[in-house]
Amino acid sequence: MDKLVIGNWKMNGRRAANHALLAALLQEPACNRRGVSVAVPALALADVAAQLAGQALSASAQDVSQFADDGAYTGEVSAAMLAEYSVDFVLLGHSERRQYFGEDNRVLAAKYDAAHAAGLRPVLCVGETLAEREAGQDEAVVAAQLEVLIGRADGDLVIAYEPVWAIGTGKVATIEQIAAMHAYIKQWVLRNTKGAVSIRVLYGGSVKAENADAVLSTPNVDGALVGGASLDVSAFRKICETAEKLIKYGNSQDVNLDR
Ligand code: PEP
Repeated sequence: MDKLVIGNWKMNGRRAANHALLAALLQEPACNRRGVSVAVPALALADVAAQLAGQALSASAQDVSQFADDGAYTGEVSAAMLAEYSVDFVLLGHSERRQYFGEDNRVLAAKYDAAHAAGLRPVLCVGETLAEREAGQDEAVVAAQLEVLIGRADGDLVIAYEPVWAIGTGKVATIEQIAAMHAYIKQWVLRNTKGAVSIRVLYGGSVKAENADAVLSTPNVDGALVGGASLDVSAFRKICETAEKLIKYGNSQDVNLDR
């Protein structure tokens, strides 16, 4: 099983800087391989897709409209529009979108369906706040977020576990916390959905060059969703190199998928 690495540029980047960053990543075999992607602002996709044409490193999107059909939805970008730029993955329900744009399961289910119908690979992001963890609600919160997958999970499923308190804060969940939640997520998917052929759970939350080895070696961690460090060539390269090294000696998909 491979280890995916998806960089999330968030609302960062200008055209020249994006070009330079990608040019550097394309020189790195560990970054320019299948299983590595960069989720870029929608406006950057045309440039990024052109620069990545014919390369293994892929372009992904950070969001998609819940509306599948063209129409009067001012400001929206549809899944079909993203597909025209060879978008690989689309992040759904990132905690920043839940927090600032009020995305809930109803909206995320529509986004999931729209992405899927257009041939994009949804990455459902889930995770609890610190208050929720301290109240012992972490599994219940994540389970409620995973409900989007009921009746939808099929093929190769990708989920990102991102504890909200670890995103952009420099705080990384402990290896025990990560291992426990990743196993919980896989078990939940196995219990509550039918069609998934494979389940990959990425960890996100202050993944850096320094902690990539520990995080990516954790049982049931099938890759990383990387925010801040994906804007830094040297940091992202090291994370990709770590992932590539671990593929060779692989430990992923630890939960037995036999139903
Ligand atoms: C993210 O944006 O998904 C993320 C994990 O950010 P960071 O790596 O900066 O914590």
